[in-house]
This record gives sequence, C-alpha cells and structure tokens, in this order.
Amino acid sequence: MTSQVLVIGSANADLVVPVDRRPGGGETVLGGDTILSPGGKGANTAVAAARLGAEVALLGAVGDDPYGELLKRSLAESGVNTDSLRTSDRPTGIAYITVTPDGENSILVSPGANSGLRPEDVDLDGAEIVVLSLEIPLETVEHAVARAVEKGVKTLLNLSPAAELPEKTLQGLDVLLVNEHEAGFLLGGEADFPKLLDLGPKAAVVTLGAKGAAVVTADGVTEVSSPKVEAVDTTGAGDAFAGALAASLAKGEKLADAARWAVKVAAITVTRQGAQPSYPTASELE
Ligand code: ADP
Repeated sequence: MTSQVLVIGSANADLVVPVDRRPGGGETVLGGDTILSPGGKGANTAVAAARLGAEVALLGAVGDDPYGELLKRSLAESGVNTDSLRTSDRPTGIAYITVTPDGENSILVSPGANSGLRPEDVDLDGAEIVVLSLEIPLETVEHAVARAVEKGVKTLLNLSPAAELPEKTLQGLDVLLVNEHEAGFLLGGEADFPKLLDLGPKAAVVTLGAKGAAVVTADGVTEVSSPKVEAVDTTGAGDAFAGALAASLAKGEKLADAARWAVKVAAITVTRQGAQPSYPTASELE
C-alpha cells in the first residue's frame, strides 16, 4: 500500500433524525425521516483530503454489515484507498444524531468496530504523514505516534473528541489540531495558545469557528481569518479542516499556508448540508 497521507481513525454511519424536542427518560417522541450518511472523524478527514487531490488511505475498521459496505463505497468513490480498512466481527460504528429546529445537534456514538482497532493493526508503510483523531482506542493512537516518530513520519493529531494523552504522545506530534473547546480543555480554560507548545507538540493549530484559525509555532502566533460565508450546517467542518491541512502539508506547504487553504475549504463545507457531502474538490476552490 502506498499513500502519502495515512489517516488512522473512525468510520461511522451517521443516522440523523430531525426532532421537535428530545425524549426524556422513559418517554417516546416521534421524529422526522432518518437520513443515513457516511461519517466518523477518520473517514471524514480521509474523504476531505482525497477530494482535494491527496493520495490518501484510511486505516480503520467497519463491521460485516450494510453500514460497513456503505462506508467502504463512499470512501472508494472519493478516491480513498481502503486496503487497510479492516472488517471486524463487531458492528460498524453508528452515530445517532438528533437535530432540533434551532439547529442544535445531540450525538450518541456507538463505536462498535472502531473500538476493536488495536495497536498491532497499525502499519505505517508508505506513509509520509499520519493523521489521527480520537474516536478509536487511545492506546492505538499512542502506538501509532510512537511508530511514526521511530520511522520519521510526520504526525498530525486532531484532539477530537477531547481526551488526556500521555506527555510522550504529545511530544511526538508535529502538529496538534484543536478547536477552541479542546484548547480550553488542554489549557485549563485559558486561551493562551502559545502554551499549547509547552505540552510537547512542535506546532499547534487552533480552529476558531467563523473567525478562522490560529497557527502556533516557536516563532509565535499567526492569525488566519476565514472568508465570510452564510453558514447552514457546520457538521464535519473540523474534520474537513484536518483533511485539507494534511493534504496541503503532504504537498510540502508551510503550516501557515496549509491553514490558509484549510479555512477556505472549511468555509465552503459550512455553506452546504452534511459532513462528507459538503466537502469540495480542488477544482471548486480555484
Ligand atoms: P469544530 O467543527 O471542530 O468544532 P470549528 O467550529 O472551529 O471546529 O470549525 C472548524 C473550521 O471550520 C474553522 O476553523 C473554520 O475554518 C470553519 N468554520 C466553522 N464555522 C464557520 C463559519 N460559521 N464560517 C466560516 N467558517 C467556519
């Protein structure tokens, strides 16, 4: 298997139901029609990078069921290499998502096959940059970073959903990617972004929603502003940002330039419905 960008992460089926309100304990509420779409932070990131022209593989796991088939198909259609997508004896991960009329999401993830992704499944052959997120076991993430450091493979970790990582893992990161909430989690509620580098990564990128992003390196903080757009659905924007950042770094761009590209990509995704269906191709950005 050869690929410049190796994403190690989750693949989930997103089951989205519009509701007027969420049921309480012991209560039944009728919602609208279910929308089924491919998701999961790993799969989203891989699809975003592949649509932008990067050579991408996803190392992950799905179940031997129709949702697994749907995910494999959507990844392949976007040009993601799925040779390292294992078929597990556990069911495909599912995100049960309810959306209220004010646009607020509430999400329950059943990780299923993603939980079975073991350190021994990690194979970095051919990878130039490895991209990780945290919907898979943390020991697998820690092992992947350690292997990447040994092999001199560049590492980008999206700390999503927020979790504690060992110092050794943070020190092995070329780029730590966080949103404002995750930065606050790491910094005890402060927004003093240069302090992220004290935790160990060589550089950090903080995504700031409609404001864009901040790039933190040893040279200081560079603010990258976002194009002004009419946002209709921000689902998967952070994953699109991660994929675009990785695709750009794989081409040898500097981190600040990669972040300038990623805010353009992410701004387009928020003007369209859904996660993967909203991700643009490189030609759309020209
Ligand atoms: P997450 O989706 O992980 O919570 P953010 O909300 O920071 O993270 O969004 C990730 C990126 O998506 C931002 O850095 C920005 O580029 C883009 N984005 C998010 N919301 C908007 C918005 N309302 N307008 C333009 N871009 C946005």
